[in-house]
Amino acid sequence: MIEIDGSVGEGGGQIVRTAIALAAITGQEVEIRNIRANRPNPGLAAQHLHAVKAVERLSRGKTEGLQLHSQRLKFSPGDLKCIHTELDIGTAGSITLLLQCLIPVALFADCESVVTVKGGTDVRWAPPIDFYTGVFLKALRVMGCDIQIDMKRRGYYPRGGGVVEVRISPLAGGLRGFKPEYVQREQGEGAESRIVKGISHSRGLPTHVTERQARAAEQILHDCGYSTAIEREVDDKTATAVRATTGSGITLWLGYKSGSALGKPGKRAELVGEEAAHEILRELNSSSSVDIHLADQLIPYIALADSGSELRVREMTEHLRTNIYVTKRFLDIEFEVMRISGDDVVEVRRE
Ligand code: ATP
Repeated sequence: MIEIDGSVGEGGGQIVRTAIALAAITGQEVEIRNIRANRPNPGLAAQHLHAVKAVERLSRGKTEGLQLHSQRLKFSPGDLKCIHTELDIGTAGSITLLLQCLIPVALFADCESVVTVKGGTDVRWAPPIDFYTGVFLKALRVMGCDIQIDMKRRGYYPRGGGVVEVRISPLAGGLRGFKPEYVQREQGEGAESRIVKGISHSRGLPTHVTERQARAAEQILHDCGYSTAIEREVDDKTATAVRATTGSGITLWLGYKSGSALGKPGKRAELVGEEAAHEILRELNSSSSVDIHLADQLIPYIALADSGSELRVREMTEHLRTNIYVTKRFLDIEFEVMRISGDDVVEVRRE
């Protein structure tokens, strides 16, 4: 049995998601103690609980300690079988973080899984849903994964109410490593390599919020020599009819790099657009190949791939370091981490 101290490194929910997913895929028992011990609300939150429950079902496994606020989990996986189900996090708990645990396991199941998840699509400290569709799934696709995401409704903090349907096909031709040439191909050449795409969105707020977020981001990006293609998404009729949640945000991406920001009461819409633009510019101005968020999220996939990978990232984040540590507890592989001389960039390589 593999024992993991959930308070090491970053010490957050990611340790639980990575450990449970890799335990299910590799068929190894795991015990995690001190879950989120240093967080103000220690133990499992709704998002983590539902993620583990979903993997328990996918793997016909057994779990001890699976309750809200639990700081200890023992998980014994069984055989992986696809699932067709609905999961309701019940709060604005992040849908994408739940998927972070579910997707890798479903890729190794025997047939297509179709899962509808209710919760938050755009919440703080978590991947926005448009990062998933615009960046993360694109990376998984070049690695050989067939995953479709249909965002049916957005959900913001605190009420949630977002709905996302995800279809995950089992890996057909194996999982390939992530190579630098994918990055060049995706970014394109010439003018094409300088088009930042994005979605500015809001619900339950005046329509000018969406517009102002987008314009503020566009102005900064244009001043820095980038073109933009930012979609404006406002409430449609269905959304208004079932309005359960109010909020706004913007996500921008180019190649495998992103920037995003969320609105909140009292925060100017322009500031939301500016924050997202500055975030993606920090990534674009670096010689990295992927952004800091994609880097930590790709680690388990890179470890499971049949061939080597190479990522360049502008910073060795605690999430990245911790995900490498947890992944290595399950798989007998080495990651080579080096600072590129003369450049403040870290290269993460797996032969
Ligand atoms: P905790 O509440 O304990 O911090 P958690 O379950 O909310 O735990 P973390 O362990 O902090 O989450 O993991 C957050 C994950 O979300 C990381 O993989 C990180 O890269 C990703 N993430 C956070 N913000 C963004 C963002 N703006 N864009 C893309 N990914 C993001």
